Amino acid sequence: MNREQRRAAAKQAKKDGTEEVAEKVALFGLIGDQCLVCNKPFDKANREQVMSWSVVVREKEEKVNLYCPECWNGALKMLQQAKEEILGYGEE
Ligand SMILES: [Zn+2]
Repeated sequence: MNREQRRAAAKQAKKDGTEEVAEKVALFGLIGDQCLVCNKPFDKANREQVMSWSVVVREKEEKVNLYCPECWNGALKMLQQAKEEILGYGEE
């Protein structure tokens, strides 16, 4: 790699990084500040919450639904249960 190529690569990486961040920030701006189900407050500055809460992007509606871990797990359990009922699992 010569100096020109290195410079070009660094420029490209910087550009990519910036664009990725811009995209995330745009998405982040759509995130609500509470759980959609139980209205538990969501703190965007709380890294632990940001990592553990679930975000569902509805691109058509340009909406971002936010679920706390408890409600998310509950929803998954309900889905699983509904699936089992529909498919007839768990019955003799
Ligand atoms: Zn919740």
